[in-house]
Amino acid sequence: MIRAVYPGSFDPVTNGHLDIILRAARVFDRLSVVVMSNQSKSTLFSVEERIALLQEVTRDIPNVVVTHHGGLLVHFMQSEKAQIIIKGLRAVSDFEYEFQMALMNRTLDDGVETLFMMTNNQYSYLSSSLVKEVARFGGSVAELVQPVVAAELRAKFLAATPSPDFT
Ligand code: ADP
Repeated sequence: MIRAVYPGSFDPVTNGHLDIILRAARVFDRLSVVVMSNQSKSTLFSVEERIALLQEVTRDIPNVVVTHHGGLLVHFMQSEKAQIIIKGLRAVSDFEYEFQMALMNRTLDDGVETLFMMTNNQYSYLSSSLVKEVARFGGSVAELVQPVVAAELRAKFLAATPSPDFT
């Protein structure tokens, strides 16, 4: 049984993430999607909200489980007895950072391998940050995220918009 782990912020999950999840789930027996909670990074969605959205969009993929981890990824890998980390690569700009992370994780545990999956052409420009920017200013994110995610984004930004002051 080959287990793989797909870590990220998923703030929120986009169609680019979902594409990697679907493709990785076809290759491995079990895929754990791990919401990494990094206290130095401020997020729009709480860990619980990010997990709930991921669970919703992956609920028809039987070999995918969604969880979270707050510490070092290699410790999660050891506790899960998983050896493969899946990362998505969008552009050369992703490479530098991911290269460092992969080498660092292997230094911390030489049983861990990082495998990179190329983005789908269609999603090569897509990031959670960009999705949030578009949604913040009322643009349509229908092509970028699943409907449940689009609805949550609308709710977040509506709640954050101050009501007009007519006084
Ligand atoms: P981001 O905020 O940039 O979307 P995440 O930490 O949520 O970043 O990303 C988790 C993983 O998913 C990373 O390996 C990242 O490279 C990958 N990823 C993010 N967006 C895409 C995409 N559009 N296509 C392929 N991989 C992606």
